[in-house]
Amino acid sequence: MITITNLCKIYGQGDKAVKALDNVSLEIPRGEIFGVLGQSGAGKSTLIRCVNLLELPTSGEITVGDQVITSLSGPPLRQARQRMGMIFQHFNLLKSRTVAENVAFPLEVKGLSKSARQSRVKELLELVGLESKFEAYPAQLSGGQKQRVGIARALAGSPDVLLSDEATSALDPQTTYAILELLRDLNRRMGLTILLITHEMSVVRQICSSVAILEAGQIVEQGRVNELALRP
Ligand code: ADP
Ligand code: ADP
Repeated sequence: MITITNLCKIYGQGDKAVKALDNVSLEIPRGEIFGVLGQSGAGKSTLIRCVNLLELPTSGEITVGDQVITSLSGPPLRQARQRMGMIFQHFNLLKSRTVAENVAFPLEVKGLSKSARQSRVKELLELVGLESKFEAYPAQLSGGQKQRVGIARALAGSPDVLLSDEATSALDPQTTYAILELLRDLNRRMGLTILLITHEMSVVRQICSSVAILEAGQIVEQGRVNELALRP
């Protein structure tokens, strides 16, 4: 589903240059929950931002489906980005909009009619177990509920791929468990491919089938989670 080949990302120039990604290659099969594990500064955000086309790599190539996305610009780039959903550590909800309006936002951008948006939002909120919170504002929700809204919004455009950027790092262990179970359920029911980055081994153990370990911009180890001798 996602093929990353010899990806390099250098920020800045000259003696201020930082090599955030150093020749990273990964193969993420369709339908997989793939984890990238690493400490702060390892290059995880840079990697996921390159996949989401928020960041342009210095060199290397990323393919999603059968499309090379790293060479796109203009409308094709926007279309490629719409085929990926993303969830964030701090949820990134619009505070002045209700739950339903937050979820409807990408559908509005896509140009869906009001009635089509309403039925899709209902479906999405049911999918994440938040059908009772249509009219609530983000400030009235718990962290776990906010992330459910984030997941519903990320799935609004029926993406092939869900990117998760430390999506449970701001949540307590019980809520983390529930959100990860929801992601696993979505993966099973919809065949959704999930690329998640985390600094927590426990997250990888709970839901990932494969993992790559990133250190100082390089993949130092990768394989099936049940075959790697992972540190606790
Ligand atoms: P992680 O997500 O694993 O914490 P990042 O991808 O955020 O790692 O950062 C990897 C390295 O790149 C770090 O050394 C960080 O300081 C540097 N870095 C990240 N973003 C930028 C940027 N916009 N400009 C310069 N350096 C950056
Ligand atoms: P962090 O986890 O580092 O605190 P977030 O995960 O909340 O930060 O956000 C990561 C980056 O994504 C930020 O630089 C933010 O500007 C950007 N961002 C925020 N909202 C969106 C969005 N809806 N789509 C794409 N990128 C976003």
